[in-house]
Amino acid sequence: MISKLLSDANLFYLLYLIDLDLAEQCRKLRCPHCGSVLHFARYTRKPRGGPNNLSDEYMTRHGLCCSSEDCRRRTLPASCLFMGRRVYWRCVIVVVMALHQQRPKGTSIYRLQRMFDIDHKTICRWIAYFRQVFPSSVSWKSLRGLVNPKLDDKRLPGSLLAVFLKQVPDLQQGLIVCMKFLANSTCSRFLKPKTVTAKDGDFFL
Ligand SMILES: [Zn+2]
Repeated sequence: MISKLLSDANLFYLLYLIDLDLAEQCRKLRCPHCGSVLHFARYTRKPRGGPNNLSDEYMTRHGLCCSSEDCRRRTLPASCLFMGRRVYWRCVIVVVMALHQQRPKGTSIYRLQRMFDIDHKTICRWIAYFRQVFPSSVSWKSLRGLVNPKLDDKRLPGSLLAVFLKQVPDLQQGLIVCMKFLANSTCSRFLKPKTVTAKDGDFFL
């Protein structure tokens, strides 16, 4: 089951490695404001929802800072692990939302609360965000043209995750590819991911 992936430290390790790579790619592009060299300016987050045995290293948010004294502006690379300022890991938010939207065995908000130890209000906020804000956001619009027009925008991110889970041989890989795809929506400095050939339909678990 996809929910079990969230208790596997290896998933977070792999996402951490991807984040490192994304940050390094972003650093090589130099400062978007003045073209100077960028330096790493990392800081630690304490996201919730993952296993207890995660290395502190995975909690690192890779920021970048311009080396020019006249600029010093910060650049935030894309991240598979973190979703903006939210206090839960991105993969936790996406999986919980997908389980709710796809409703395998009737995954209600109350059941999700118990399964992942997330409070009711937080889950309701995520549901409202993905229903009312995300589908019309700049982030999603930057990716929307890459997926099948038939993809159900009212069931994001579950409908998107379903597409990736169908395309790869195992659940962990499908989730990781989905995280990479969504991460790119937050950073305009990267090449767009490859177009996704969506085959919407029932899937899951
Ligand atoms: Zn600069």
